[in-house]
Amino acid sequence: MLKPFQGIHQTAPFNSIKIEHYIPAFDAAIEEARREVLKIVDESVPPDFANTIVALDVAGDQLNRIQNIFFNLNSAETCDEMQNIAQEVAPKLSDFSNDITLNEQLFFRIKTVYERKAELVLNTEESTLLTKTYRRFVRNGASLNDADKAKYREITKELSQLGLKFQQNVLAETNAYELLITDEKDLSGLPESIVEMAAQAAKLKEKEGWLFNLQYPSYVPFLKYADNRELREQIFRASSSRANHGNENDNNDIIRRIVELRLEKAKLLGFRTHAEYKLEERMAETPEKVHVFLNELHRASKPFAMKEFAEVQEYAANDGLDGTLQRWDWAYYSEKLKSEKYSFTEEEVKPYLQLEKVIEGVFSLAEKLYGLRLQKNKNIEVYNQEVKAYEVFDEQNQLVAVLYLDFFPRESKRSGAWMTDYRSQSNVNGNQIRPHISLVTNFSKSTENTPSLLTFDEVTTFLHEFGHGLHGMLSQCQFPGTSGTNVYWDFVELPSQMHENWAYEKDWLDTFAVHYQTGEKMPAELIEKIRKAQNFQAAYMMERQLSFGMLDMAYHDRELPVVGELKPFEMNAIATTDLFEPVEGSLQSTAFSHIFSGGYDAGYYSYKWAEVLDADAFSVFQEKGIFDRETADSFRKNILEKGGSDHPMILYKAFRGQEPTSAALLKRNGLS
Ligand SMILES: [Zn+2]
Repeated sequence: MLKPFQGIHQTAPFNSIKIEHYIPAFDAAIEEARREVLKIVDESVPPDFANTIVALDVAGDQLNRIQNIFFNLNSAETCDEMQNIAQEVAPKLSDFSNDITLNEQLFFRIKTVYERKAELVLNTEESTLLTKTYRRFVRNGASLNDADKAKYREITKELSQLGLKFQQNVLAETNAYELLITDEKDLSGLPESIVEMAAQAAKLKEKEGWLFNLQYPSYVPFLKYADNRELREQIFRASSSRANHGNENDNNDIIRRIVELRLEKAKLLGFRTHAEYKLEERMAETPEKVHVFLNELHRASKPFAMKEFAEVQEYAANDGLDGTLQRWDWAYYSEKLKSEKYSFTEEEVKPYLQLEKVIEGVFSLAEKLYGLRLQKNKNIEVYNQEVKAYEVFDEQNQLVAVLYLDFFPRESKRSGAWMTDYRSQSNVNGNQIRPHISLVTNFSKSTENTPSLLTFDEVTTFLHEFGHGLHGMLSQCQFPGTSGTNVYWDFVELPSQMHENWAYEKDWLDTFAVHYQTGEKMPAELIEKIRKAQNFQAAYMMERQLSFGMLDMAYHDRELPVVGELKPFEMNAIATTDLFEPVEGSLQSTAFSHIFSGGYDAGYYSYKWAEVLDADAFSVFQEKGIFDRETADSFRKNILEKGGSDHPMILYKAFRGQEPTSAALLKRNGLS
């Protein structure tokens, strides 16, 4: 692992790597990286862009290589030993990264270069890398005086403990509740598989009956299908009041403290609010822009959400509901309404989505749009025999990237789907390094009698990860630190989500989606049903997402701490989006892990932001043709090739000719 890789395209030598190699390799590579950083600090000539900024960006190349292999495999092909190694190296790696950001001499050199930025002759990407490097240090407290540095460290430490405690409390409260059903008629409405799961859960705890809890796979179907309204109310109240019971798991004080500390930290670093601090490195740029964004979508969707609400209310009344529709009724009646309006099952769709065909469809889309040719190469080493490695060529037959595809679930693989790389693209001083990208998913495997048939969601997942993959593969940047998917956090989902749009296009589906037995094309009516079902209650869902975004901003775009009760604070923040009567004792905030322990603070808006971007970008394809090469070229040149080399708004405008608007998303959701 310490030597340059000798295989095809210098791909990782998976076959020769043994578990016992990791620790010594990490130790040696960390030492080497330390030496490289020290060399920058000890440089006798004055700091300049090349000897400081570029040198730092390429330092630790060997360590990166080892880290990529280890952590990628720890997700896709892990075992107990790997997990122990992960525990062992984590503190070593964080020490190393602290040693860099806290190195005062190193920061002094970076600052010297940064302050001379105006005199330097730098291209856009170089200038971006310089700012990014400087900010990384400043945002970690490097420019503070010693007293403030100590304060900064204290705040950061307390915040990380509070975030952890917040999460532990939510977990404890989630696990504390059980709904044990002993009378079979209380199961009425629930699907067989859910009932079975509940029976097993009860057995596991040596109880008679059926056990439900607040975890998603149990809670969500219960609210959706259980006919017993009192029990739905009970489980809803339990879930919506988590960590708000005034006991040892209560999160109210923790929230007030987190908000206060984040504000203090932001002020220490020279910002007005925590949101302002966070948004400095986002496409959205300022809290004001986020407020305007959320309110604009809210104004557009509110009237439609009210209509959707009235429709469910009326449906429920006809179905015999007495009184007003409550929160615990929503999912239940919505599900009934939905299946009446657009009934189709996954089983109807799957026979048209055979994995091999879907792969062909995705590859031919890459060829139509970007002129890419993907060719399987069995001589490239893989870490599991299920993994397939491809060489990706452009129209001039130049190698663009290596792509690994790893589709099926294994015990050694975590759940979900993701794109990652073993090597990122860079081109420092003419040394062109092409990327090695990997897409990992958990799609249904083939059986003896049927090939692997995907659900519709799995097809959109494939397109999503492939979109991230294109961002990595097509990158044409200079520096590792600005290439590929190294972009602002609220921009990274544009390529992925935009490519999902093809899944709803008949012209694309027609190229590959044929019944695996009869060879017939997917029926147009079925495609239409899928499209319509996708938009079912789009406005209601949008209002809900917006209310989370607004609550997030209420906590984080403020110049004073939050004092007093959180319930009125929360109600005030989301008042305009709320369609239900308030429920006594329920509070969103105390279980809002996304913003208090999940890294989405002042960032919840990004879910909708990314949707606006992807719909707006795709609308160009809808206008010019979904296989239009000129539009694809522009998307490629202005966005996919550019990575994080420039501000995302500049890149986006270069593609679109203007800033994104929400018009296309509203249209797609049927809200205009
Ligand atoms: Zn994604």
